[in-house]
Amino acid sequence: MLPELTDATPELCPVCATVLGGGAAWILLSRHLTSKGEIEYCLSTCGCLVVLLNGALLKAAPGRSAVHSSGA
Ligand SMILES: [Zn+2]
Repeated sequence: MLPELTDATPELCPVCATVLGGGAAWILLSRHLTSKGEIEYCLSTCGCLVVLLNGALLKAAPGRSAVHSSGA
């Protein structure tokens, strides 16, 4: 079976692969309209930050639970 991907409430965090519970897994921090489209900053319940451009994943920063190997 193919993994089912949903934009609004993914069951797996696309950044750190933490299993997210049901409900509000993503918190919209801010939204900006730019010349390239709509930029959205969302914070996952696992602590990851993602940046979406027109609803597509543009950048992602692992949350606190995902950073183990590259600490200061
Ligand atoms: Zn995550």
